[in-house]
Amino acid sequence: MTDEVTWSPAATDEDVEPGLRAAFAAELGGAPDGVWAAPGRINLIGEHTDYNGGWCLPFALAHRTYCAVRTRADGRLRVASRQAPGQAWEGEVTQIRPGSPGGWVAYVAGAVASLAGRAGGPVGADILVDGRVPLGAGLSSSAALSCSGALALADLVPGLATLDRAELAQACVRAENDYAGAATGGMDQTVSLRAVDGHALLIDCSDFSLTPVAWTLPDHEVLVIDTRAHHSLADGQYAARRDTCDRACRTLGVESLRELHGADVDGVLGRLEGDAEAQRRVRHVLTENTRVHDLVAALAAEDADEVGRLMVASHVSLRDDYEVSCRELDLAVDAAQRAGATGARMTGGGFGGSALALVPRDGGEDVALAVHAAFLAEGLEAPHLLRATPSAPAHRVS
Ligand code: ADP
Ligand code: MG
Repeated sequence: MTDEVTWSPAATDEDVEPGLRAAFAAELGGAPDGVWAAPGRINLIGEHTDYNGGWCLPFALAHRTYCAVRTRADGRLRVASRQAPGQAWEGEVTQIRPGSPGGWVAYVAGAVASLAGRAGGPVGADILVDGRVPLGAGLSSSAALSCSGALALADLVPGLATLDRAELAQACVRAENDYAGAATGGMDQTVSLRAVDGHALLIDCSDFSLTPVAWTLPDHEVLVIDTRAHHSLADGQYAARRDTCDRACRTLGVESLRELHGADVDGVLGRLEGDAEAQRRVRHVLTENTRVHDLVAALAAEDADEVGRLMVASHVSLRDDYEVSCRELDLAVDAAQRAGATGARMTGGGFGGSALALVPRDGGEDVALAVHAAFLAEGLEAPHLLRATPSAPAHRVS
C-alpha cells in the first residue's frame, strides 16, 4: 500500500507547444500553420438533464487538448495523436463516413467532415494532436479533441470564417453522435468552445443559450476524483435511461420533461402511477433541474455549504432514483465527505468515470489522501486526482 496520491496537473500552453511543433515536424514534416487548444470540463450539477431539455452547469478545465494544424489544398486529411501511437490515418475528406474512419480518428475526421460541407470548396489538413485532458475519465477529452480541430479549421479556412462558436459546437456534436457513434447531448462541446474564464456556464439545453455564473468561492476548490473504473454497461444503460424518459413523456403528454419544470413533482409522479421505474427517473430529472437553479443561487450568495449540500443531494438522486452510480463513485463521494469535503457527487454519465468534491482550499490534500486510502482499503485501483479550476474556452495558441 502506498500513500502516494497520483495527481494529473494541468499543462500550460508553454509546456505543450514546443514539443508538439517538434513532433509535427517529425511525424508530418515541416511546420504547422498554428496550434490550437480546447479544454475538457466538469459539470458542477445537472446530470442526465441535457437530453431532457433541462439545465446543466459545467465549467472548462485548465486541462486542454492541443492540435497543430496545417491546411492542404488537395482535400486530403492526415491525423495522428501523441496519445495513439501507430494509429495515424490518412484519406480523402469527401470519403469520411459514420464509423469510417473509426476509433479515435472519428472525433477529428467527423469534425472536419461536418465542417467541410460549409466551406464552399475542398478542405484538407494535416493534424497532430496532444491531449492533456485525461482520456475516458468523464472529463470530455472527446469533445476537447473535436473542438480543438474544429476551431483550427474555422480559423484557417476562409469559407468557415463566418461560423460562430455555437455553430462549431454543433459540428462537433455531429462528429461525436454521427461519426464516432457516441451519444452526447451537447454540453461538452458547448462549454469547450464557449466557456467564460473564472465562471461556470448555466446551459439551457433546450436551445443552448448560456448564462455565465461567476465562481464565488475563492476559499474552496473542486477536486476531481477519476475512479479509473469503466463499467461496460454504461452505453446500454444510457440508452435505457433515454428510452424511459421518452416513455414518461408519452404518458405525460409532453414533448420533453423540460415542460414540467416548476410543476408539482408529486403531482407529476402521480400521473405515472404503475410505472415505478419512470417515476424514479422523472423524479431525478425534475429535482435535478431545480437543484441546478438552486446551486446558481447558492453561488451568487457565496454559500459554499449550500453548494455542497446540493451536490450531495444530486449524488443521492443519481444513485437511488436514476441508478447510474457504482461502487467506486459511491466510495469516492463517501470517503471525500468523511474527510471533510463540503460536498461531493458523481459527474458524467455514470457507471465509472469521475466524482467531484468541493473542498476547503487548505483541505484538498487531506481529502485526496483519504479517498486514495479508501480505494486501496477496498482493494480497488488507486484513483487519479486533479484540481478543477474554472478556465478559458478553446483558443488559438500560436
Ligand atoms: P471522455 O470524453 O470523458 O474522455 P470518451 O469515451 O467520450 O471519454 O472519449 C474518450 C475517447 O476520445 C478516447 O477513447 C479516444 O478515442 C478519444 N480521444 C480523446 N483524446 C484523445 C487524444 N488526445 N488522442 C487520441 N484519442 C483521443
Ligand atoms: Mg466524451
